Amino acid sequence: MFEKSTKIIFIDGKWKEVDDGKGVAVYNPATLEPITEVADGGSRVTEEAIQAASKAFPGWSELTGRERSRILYKAYELMSEDAERLGEILTTEQGKPLKEGIGEVKGAANFLLWYSEEASRGYGEWIPSSIKSKRMLVIPQPVGVVGAITPWNFPSSMITRKIGPALAAGCTVVLKPAPETPLSAIEIVKIFERAGMPEGVINLVTGDAQEIGNAMLKSKEVRLLTFTGSTAVGKYLMQESAEHVKKLSLELGGHAPSVVFEDADIDKATSLVLASKFRNNGQTCICTNRLYVHESIADQFTAMLTEKVSQLKIGSGFEEGVELGPLINEQASEKVHSHLRDAVGKGAQVVLGGAEWEGNLEGYFYKPTVLTDISDDMLIMNEETFDPIIPVQTFSDETEVLQKANDTDYGLAAYIFTENTNRAIRASEKLEYGIVGVNDVFPAVAEAPFGGIKQSGNGKEGGHYGMEEFLEMKFVSIGIG
Ligand code: ADP
Repeated sequence: MFEKSTKIIFIDGKWKEVDDGKGVAVYNPATLEPITEVADGGSRVTEEAIQAASKAFPGWSELTGRERSRILYKAYELMSEDAERLGEILTTEQGKPLKEGIGEVKGAANFLLWYSEEASRGYGEWIPSSIKSKRMLVIPQPVGVVGAITPWNFPSSMITRKIGPALAAGCTVVLKPAPETPLSAIEIVKIFERAGMPEGVINLVTGDAQEIGNAMLKSKEVRLLTFTGSTAVGKYLMQESAEHVKKLSLELGGHAPSVVFEDADIDKATSLVLASKFRNNGQTCICTNRLYVHESIADQFTAMLTEKVSQLKIGSGFEEGVELGPLINEQASEKVHSHLRDAVGKGAQVVLGGAEWEGNLEGYFYKPTVLTDISDDMLIMNEETFDPIIPVQTFSDETEVLQKANDTDYGLAAYIFTENTNRAIRASEKLEYGIVGVNDVFPAVAEAPFGGIKQSGNGKEGGHYGMEEFLEMKFVSIGIG
């Protein structure tokens, strides 16, 4: 399925070999076997890519939205038609169950569809003037060259969610995917090539994150950085963007609380909490990290949840029926162990799991784990988990639980489960999060704004808001008469 070496980067409409002896190995996280190696592009290559994007900008931005739309739509069609093969590549490099991999590719294609439609709708404004001799216009214009840095947990959809709106708006792009999952990125760029994307509009550089990132930061021509990843790297990019006052769109870490009220539909809520926590093996920035269950239903809820969790099948993402794949790497595995040690040391009870999975695969697998007797000072209640452990805490009072839910520096997603509409609205308004799911744990869709507040970042992805990130509102003030 893969060649031994794929040391290519895409600059100015051409695939170029970067063969300086180095390369970045890509592993299958289920087996820890090397799949291939990709190019180790550094600052020089990134600068070349930025120049190509800069050169392509006038031509691309001057096309009509309709013209850009056609290419995005074609890319959407090609990606949708090829979803199975692309899903297999994604699962090979990332580990998630194939069904989720194919599902992600289809979702990723959907961003291209949405932004192919949105490309024609970059509306401006005609402002009624308070002065008779003036006319006032607001013209939306593309920001310029965009640097897009994406993570490994959604190797496909994090790319289209960024480059879809950037391209629709008329920006050109230099893309740097995560070193763990560059193969999906290469495929997406090939799709755009087949869709007829003009030279230089999309450029792809794989390799050392710091070198590529710094080349983007140092360049005056990169006007906006769109980044999904850890809060620590987000803060670094923010600091270093000060020199050229770059625009930033940051989707950073999260620590999502799920609050199950006494009036929830318990069967439905357990299934949704399970889906929210264990999708992608807990390696999702909007995964439930903390679970608060009302004390009057806690025993029943925990028993039902534990029963459902115990049914989850672990293994290779390619095996039929598997719902939990491997963790991405050793570092992730160490974090699970440290969270568990810390929680048990502080009095947590292991109701289910609590150990590595002893399967026949070399990757880092961990049993889905349910913990009770949780205290607020445990690491797992404060640090982003990115693992298949769910801590269950009880509560008695709505005000108190919402305060607890908000007591974090993160503010990406929160979930509530209730059948009471008044409570749903009240709680949604009080939660200090960019996204609130009410009896819903899948809020990431092409048509709606996704993004965090506080240290979970700024800016929105999805919907018309997502395209506005890539547009400058130019004010034209016209004296007449
Ligand atoms: P995670 O912990 O999820 O891997 P990171 O923030 O480390 O999150 O990585 C997200 C993306 O940011 C990846 O593409 C990674 O290579 C990139 N990255 C990491 N460090 C830097 C950096 N200093 N500058 C630019 N990009 C970086």
